[in-house]
Amino acid sequence: METLCAELIAVGTELLLGSIANTDAQFLSRELAGLGISVERHTAVGDDPQRLREAVEAARARCSILITTGGLGPTFDDLTKQVVCRVFDRPLTLRPEVEETIEGIYRDILHRPMPESDRLQALLPEGAELFPNHAGTAPGFAFCSGGVHVLMLPGPPEECRSVWEHGAREYLRRLSPGVICSRDIMSFGMGESSVEFLLHEKMCRMVNPSLATYAKPSEVCLRATARANTAQEADALLDPVEAEVRAALGDLVYGVDVSGLTELCLQRLKARGLTLACAESCTGGLIAQRITALPGASAVFRGGVVSYWSSVKAGVLGVDPALLETHGAVSAPVAEAMAKGARAITGADLAVSVTGVAGPDSDERGNPVGRVFVALADETGGVYCRHLELGRRSRELIRDEAANHALDLLRRHLDGLPMELTVPELKKG
Ligand code: ATP
Repeated sequence: METLCAELIAVGTELLLGSIANTDAQFLSRELAGLGISVERHTAVGDDPQRLREAVEAARARCSILITTGGLGPTFDDLTKQVVCRVFDRPLTLRPEVEETIEGIYRDILHRPMPESDRLQALLPEGAELFPNHAGTAPGFAFCSGGVHVLMLPGPPEECRSVWEHGAREYLRRLSPGVICSRDIMSFGMGESSVEFLLHEKMCRMVNPSLATYAKPSEVCLRATARANTAQEADALLDPVEAEVRAALGDLVYGVDVSGLTELCLQRLKARGLTLACAESCTGGLIAQRITALPGASAVFRGGVVSYWSSVKAGVLGVDPALLETHGAVSAPVAEAMAKGARAITGADLAVSVTGVAGPDSDERGNPVGRVFVALADETGGVYCRHLELGRRSRELIRDEAANHALDLLRRHLDGLPMELTVPELKKG
């Protein structure tokens, strides 16, 4: 099956000055990968007709899909349409339906007359297919010339997304016959660069299905995407890819097509009819927040205690003051006692706890930034603790990673896996 290849050209001097990041390219690349379209180049050019022309001419010779973002507005520096149409020798013609839509936005929403300059936005390449913009005035559009599909989208991210969702995606989907299916293989315990290192050769070799990594805070998603005539054929292509990823990453793979560890834990708890509680120090309620953000949390989540001060660890969770005195608040015995305490006071089947130093400074006992203990108290009265040295990362990342480790303990317990996190040896494959 032929693979379509795309190039993106972002237009805007702000991109070159570093005033804004090219988030449209990030969004579109991800979406295109999901459609099985390979993105071969990103270019950013300023509001300069000559350089834009050169970029468009070069891209036209290389790709079958050219997508531009930005420069569709009514101001003097919005010149993408004019330049692209000149390169593809396509006249611009006034589209009365677009003119009427823009006039309507001014009349009914903005309550002022439409500036004459806005009429420029109703000039579209002859024969172009329109993509409505529900977040602004300039619509997106596409045309095909000499075997190249040209899509032009507005720059503001919410407008780019709106136009994508209201026509551009469908336009591209029509170009690829059959179905496109993807599978998100979720892993925790190894950074994105290590996962890529392990799977590098497979990822480079694979075209259909393709395999790409997406990093989430302290998790890595591997997305396998297959193009085939039917969903069954696509599934048959994806099965061996999933098996290869599982073979390489072992039990670091925690699920497929789930949004994250929190959702997975919630599903598992529900399926087993178990309830959960938590006791959090340095994560300050992050675990409770994540769980309660998901619909259906009330069926399994009994509650949580944010026990920041030692007096709360002792007074509310019942942590023995002698333990706090001897080992300090950031220690394995205290993490274990916090988890047991949360379980005891809520009556939940399981409880997780977190205590650690999120930074920016080490604590009064000299525990370094990033030292964290997470624990799980289980339904048999047993308790397991994991000691982490997360290093000098940002406070936010340490808290996020700590919460994920606590959830990782939970899912390992629920799935009957070893509680230790064993990272595969870094060998290319
Ligand atoms: P407008 O109708 O608002 O003029 P436009 O399509 O002409 O839209 P630009 O004028 O090029 O878009 O950019 C408008 C704003 O959109 C920029 O100031 C910037 O904030 C945002 N923007 C443009 N391009 C990108 C991009 N590639 N990634 C993220 N944001 C972008």
